[in-house]
Amino acid sequence: MSAVAQHVSIYQQAMSDKNPNSLKLPHGTLALPTFLPDATYGYVRSVDSADLAACGIGAVVMNAFHLMMKPGSTAIKKLGGLHTMYNWDRPIVTDSGGFQAYSMIRQNKSLGKINKDGIVYHPQGSERKVILTPEKSIRLQVGYGADIVVCLDDCTHAGDDASVTRESVVRTIDWARRSRTEFDRLIEEGGEEQTRPLLFGVIQGGTDRELRKRCAEELVKMEFDGFGFGGYPLDEQGRLLTDVLGYVRELVPAGLPLFGLGIGHPASVVACARLGYDIFDCSLPTRDARQGRLYRVDVDCRHLPRDGSKDWLSFVYIEDEEHAGSPRPIGDSCDCLTCTKYSRGFLHHLQKQEDGLYLRLATMHNLRTMSRIMEGLRGEAVPGANA
Ligand SMILES: [Zn+2]
Repeated sequence: MSAVAQHVSIYQQAMSDKNPNSLKLPHGTLALPTFLPDATYGYVRSVDSADLAACGIGAVVMNAFHLMMKPGSTAIKKLGGLHTMYNWDRPIVTDSGGFQAYSMIRQNKSLGKINKDGIVYHPQGSERKVILTPEKSIRLQVGYGADIVVCLDDCTHAGDDASVTRESVVRTIDWARRSRTEFDRLIEEGGEEQTRPLLFGVIQGGTDRELRKRCAEELVKMEFDGFGFGGYPLDEQGRLLTDVLGYVRELVPAGLPLFGLGIGHPASVVACARLGYDIFDCSLPTRDARQGRLYRVDVDCRHLPRDGSKDWLSFVYIEDEEHAGSPRPIGDSCDCLTCTKYSRGFLHHLQKQEDGLYLRLATMHNLRTMSRIMEGLRGEAVPGANA
């Protein structure tokens, strides 16, 4: 069977499956729904790959754009590819880098511009020019050996003018078509030797339902293996755009996975999983850990409330003096390395000392909390949970 024919069969298989509860990927099967931490530059800050596996993390998200800058494609190749470099044998999703480039350029226009061909980026506002086209992004991601490859898209902000959002949808559809063509060419060219990752398209359109619909319809016709919700998932007040998120889920065929790109607040993940979203990624849980905001979920995650209430989630701010000398773990029912071996008082001390061990233990706890939530949403029994 040719590589393209094989693709069609995977797509049809997905279309016929009404309840996807896992994704078969080159580096293993990913149970859904799942939360993936951001390993932007090829690693999750402060923890190694064995730590991630111990936390029950099924896959990570790396960033094609950032990796191209640091450590660079040549170095990654010399180090044996992303999986070998981080000693990670589970799936890797690579993000195209569209969102990151957009965010940087939006904040500082001297860093580059976005035109119909792709993204032109000037590192640190220098004369040096890096051009990221849809084709180049696909070549980088396939070359890195990713399990899921994501098309370059043109991102917008929820508060952007209608004309900006409309233009981004036109561009995103065009870039998706170019990405699809380049991906098929690479897989065909690679022949039998080429491992085929899944290819996801990203649905843009801001808060405009018509634009979301148009984008989704065009992308669905291109037969992607899955889709991402593109753009900021929050409104100007920081509230989750539940209506638009739910609408986009309706636009994507039921059997195909939907990725809530950049969604990672525990309450948002639970809300979106209830809407039918399957994959989430965000730097929030690991950043919160480094900054001393530790998650506490002392309920059986199989029975998280469906009414949108958030009282199942609370936070331990570890730098607060109340934790000095406390022998309690962060979470009474958490089974992570940190909670089973160390106290709040010790973490408080490590943080005051600014020791690297604090970063590792705190990150492991927040990631394990995220994976416990996901296990609960999948209906799996979570060790240590209060039944
Ligand atoms: Zn813990």
